[in-house]
Formats: sequence, C-alpha cells, structure tokens
Amino acid sequence: MPELLRIENIKQHFYSGGGIFRKGYTIHAVDGVSFSVKQGETLGLVGESGCGKSTLGRSILKLFEPTAGKIFFEGRDITHLSVKEMRSLRQEMQIIFQDPTESLNSRHTVGMIIEEPFIIHGIGKPVERKLWVKELLIKVGLPESAAERYPHEFSGGQRQRIGIARAVALKPKLIICDESVSALDVSVQAQILNLLLALQQEMKLALIFIAHDLSVVKHISDRVAVMYLGKIVELGNALEVYNSPRHPYTQALLSAIPIADPRKRNTNRIMLKGELPSPINPPKGCHFHTRCPYATDKCKKDKPLLVAKAGDHADACHYPLTNQSKPEFRQLA
Ligand code: SF4
Ligand code: MG
Repeated sequence: MPELLRIENIKQHFYSGGGIFRKGYTIHAVDGVSFSVKQGETLGLVGESGCGKSTLGRSILKLFEPTAGKIFFEGRDITHLSVKEMRSLRQEMQIIFQDPTESLNSRHTVGMIIEEPFIIHGIGKPVERKLWVKELLIKVGLPESAAERYPHEFSGGQRQRIGIARAVALKPKLIICDESVSALDVSVQAQILNLLLALQQEMKLALIFIAHDLSVVKHISDRVAVMYLGKIVELGNALEVYNSPRHPYTQALLSAIPIADPRKRNTNRIMLKGELPSPINPPKGCHFHTRCPYATDKCKKDKPLLVAKAGDHADACHYPLTNQSKPEFRQLA
C-alpha cells in the first residue's frame, strides 16, 4: 500500500511566558517524532498520559502549527498550509476524541451534528444530506430515528458511534482516534473497536489509534509506536513489538497488562520507579533513564536514537533487549 502520511522530526514546544517574578519555560510536549502511515493501515500510538501522544495527534491534523518538522500527506508537504488551504484537506483527515459528550453539541440533534460536515464543506442539497445522515446512522449501528434525538439521550458507546458517523461522513483517508474507547466499558470498547475495523475495511481508512494501554491497540494495530516523554522509543510491527519488545519501557507497559486467567499470576510485572518526569526539563541522555531498571552512566549522558537494528523494528535504547540474550549488565543493574 502506498504511503499516506509521513511526519519528519515533528516538535511541538509550548512556551509559557514568565512574569516579573518568574522565568518563562518551554514544554517539550513532542520532541522530534518521525513515522509514516500507509493507506488503510492502523498505527497504534501508545504511552502514559502526558507523554505527548494527543498533542502529536493534533499536530498531525495541524490543529497546532508544529514548532519544527514536516508533515506530508499523500506526498504533499502540508506543514505550512494556511487555515484556508487546510480546509479542503480537513475532509481527508478527521479526529475522534475520547469523550464524545464534549465533542457533540448538546443543543443540536444527532441529525444536525452528522450533517454539519457536509454543510461546512458545501456538499449536497438538504434532501440529499438528510438521506446521507440516515445512511451514516445505519452504517454505525444506530436507528435512522436517532437523527431526531439529542446526544444526551444516548449511552456513551452510542455517542461514540455518533462521533464516528460524523468523522466518516466525508469519507476521510485518515482518522486519528484519540483514546476513543478509553472512557467506555470493556464490552462496549470491543463493539466500538469492531465498528472502526469494519469501517476501515470498507473505506480503506488509515487509523492512528492513540491509547494509554497497549492491550487496547493490540488487536487492531498493524504497527505500534510507543511514546515516552515526547519521543517514540519503539516502533515496529504490532506482533513483533508485543512478542519481543526491545525497549525497557515497552516491556514495562506490556508487563502491566492484566492476565485474564485468574489461576495465572502476572509474576513478571516490571514496576517503574517514580512518575513520568516533567516535559519542561526532560532528563538528559535517555529520557527514560530516571525510571529504567537497566540504566547505566552512558544512558545518563547519551541520547539513544530511534534506529531499526533488524528489519523495520526500531528502538531508542543503548541496550535493547533481544530474544536470545539479555546483556550481562541487565542482571547487575
Ligand atoms: Fe534504559 Fe539506557 Fe535503554 Fe534508556 S538507553 S531505556 S536508560 S537501558
Ligand atoms: Mg491525551
């Protein structure tokens, strides 16, 4: 499949101006992220809250102007397009947020909400649009009559279906799902994930699926990117990342996934020390060294780069874990 999106060394820094008594500071929310997404592919983007993944999602859609780096969509450099130039591209790139309640206007009927993108982009006559709204409702598993009702009359899962109907209305090529199932019960999560997968198949959609939990993206992602403090620390084929994680942070995230079988205890759980450090003053060297059980002096000084040491499975660690061997120092650390 051809490449749809490519981002190169995206940085998103926010400056907070100081006052008379304090100095301003810079928040390194996204700190040099590169990856590409093919047509119809799902990339899972995973990390703890505060790691910059939502900011990155918004930078890709140019809801913020990136501080540095480049964004290519279908080969075209869109990094510095004006708001007006971005308008037509908005049809191609959509976002679904975590909390459907906040993103759906409570004073509008569901019909008005789903019809809005057509109106904004001047597509279709009112009669046609009403028909499309009904088709979209059916596509996402809601009754046609939902068009006359208001968002608050629906459950969380149904509201997320409404959000999805609106997001796919203009037949986008890319949807960024920002924690789109995190607020839902596990059984409802599965239904929404299945709906997204079905739509993806039907519409050849590419998805960037942002989640804080690796278990959520496991079944739907072709590739997974693990993010820590503004940087990607591991990126590769989803199965490979799950079966043979190379970065200690990925290992720790994976070890935290609960095991369904109550007879088996998760004895390999890796507990990370401390909290995610502040993106205002990220640690020198490897950003992860303050919490990494394997950190050495080198890690405190030298920044590891994200490189693929075999195939296209990349990690940003001086001492990546391999299947065959655990380096001696790991046992000492
Ligand atoms: Fe840990 Fe060092 Fe690898 Fe960073 S570079 S993850 S501190 S072993
Ligand atoms: Mg977030």
